[in-house]
Amino acid sequence: MSIAQELPDHVNIYPSLLFVPVGDKSSMIRSVGTKEEKAQLSRLQEAVFHEFSTRSKIELKLLETFLGTDRPCIPVPIFQQKHLYPNLLKAEMFLFNQVSPYQRISIESQYFYKKIWGRLTTDQLINHVNAVVSVYLFCAKVSSHEKRYWLSSIEKAYENHPFIQLARSKKNIVEAVEIMNKSSLLAVLKYPEDISYWRHRVEIVMRPYRAIPSKWRWKMCNHEKELLPQPASNTIKCICHECDFSVTYDIDEHDVALPKEVNLFQATKRIATIERQFNDIASQSENVTKNIQKLQEFKYFLAEHRVIIEAILDLQDTLPKKLEMPSHPLIHCYEEIHQVSLPESMNESMLLWMSNVQISDISIFKKIEEWQSMMHSDISEELKRVHIHLTQLAEENRARPDDIIVQMKNYKITREKAEIIVLFLEKQDREIPLHILVQVLKGEATNKLRSLHFHEEELFGLLDCWPEKYITKAIFQLEKESYITKQNKGYK
Ligand SMILES: [Zn+2]
Repeated sequence: MSIAQELPDHVNIYPSLLFVPVGDKSSMIRSVGTKEEKAQLSRLQEAVFHEFSTRSKIELKLLETFLGTDRPCIPVPIFQQKHLYPNLLKAEMFLFNQVSPYQRISIESQYFYKKIWGRLTTDQLINHVNAVVSVYLFCAKVSSHEKRYWLSSIEKAYENHPFIQLARSKKNIVEAVEIMNKSSLLAVLKYPEDISYWRHRVEIVMRPYRAIPSKWRWKMCNHEKELLPQPASNTIKCICHECDFSVTYDIDEHDVALPKEVNLFQATKRIATIERQFNDIASQSENVTKNIQKLQEFKYFLAEHRVIIEAILDLQDTLPKKLEMPSHPLIHCYEEIHQVSLPESMNESMLLWMSNVQISDISIFKKIEEWQSMMHSDISEELKRVHIHLTQLAEENRARPDDIIVQMKNYKITREKAEIIVLFLEKQDREIPLHILVQVLKGEATNKLRSLHFHEEELFGLLDCWPEKYITKAIFQLEKESYITKQNKGYK
């Protein structure tokens, strides 16, 4: 539908205005309003025409293209087919084809300016029109490129922002500082007052880095963005609602501004200082460095025996807990040192090197000497002996069908019988209530059991000579031994 076709008179009388239907009722505009409304329109036409006369031909041509009209104009909303809507439409909504001036526009407040233009004095109206036209012309300029062009320009400019470049180039230091600031090693480094001063500096130095959300470090996030034109500053605000973060792009300068700009000279100096200060602290604690190196050596030593140690641990896992388990102190060390993460190689920067050390419990340092005493060649033989002993124990404790799993006085459930109970429950679709399970085990051919065909099961009458109360107790015992599990309504 073309509005110009529908209202040729209006085009002649108000050439700088484009009537646009808003609201739900109808997209048709029959005629525009009362005498009073016509007077208001004339004032508006005059103000817009005057504003256009101060603008360049190129700008006005862009505006025509933006709104898809054959003349420069601004949209004027009309509702209920003929009445002037009190507020003008915002230009932003037409940007990047979100809404076309030729489609019905709903009356949602975010689409309109707050000012009621009909009530403004002449001067106020001129100012309002000036502001509105400025936004339309800016949006027209922005719309000469597609959204993805702006997004890619903003992305490039963001990556070229001096602070983002600095942060990217110092990524390893920034991350190492954050890790060390929370590291358990701080508790063993000298001297507490130096550490506390360093941590105080970290809070200041890290502020600009922490101000950038993680998904924006150190390139733009991948979420959907909103581009908000800001004509007053000749910029586009690029907003990620998911990260709750935005940058501002200058469309002429092709650069971005962060929400809080950073003093680059200071930031460059500070990041170098914070690293140097930490390295100075670390150099005062040679014993810590040595201990980390000893742990590393010990880790390599343990790696040589990894296969047999893992085999011992596996055997220990499968054997019943109540058994007295043969072991070796080295096994315990292995488990403890398994929790520790150490750097593969040295680094000139102690900050970078120590940030790769992850020790949850620093009391491990106290055990190093004792552990080192185990670093001898006989250890292989000692571990082999433990392994052989465990293998024998495992053989002795191998599960057999006639193992007694439950015993009540002279009544016994062997492993074989327990397996029958487990298999029966496993193949049922639903949970079996306790009293039904007791009936099946006892072998009571009730109608209920027959209807479920339980009387045909191998389980039926498995404990037929047992007193009923012992059967119930035996079921509880099987549950305790984790053979069967109690759910909401029964066993499964
Ligand atoms: Zn995001």
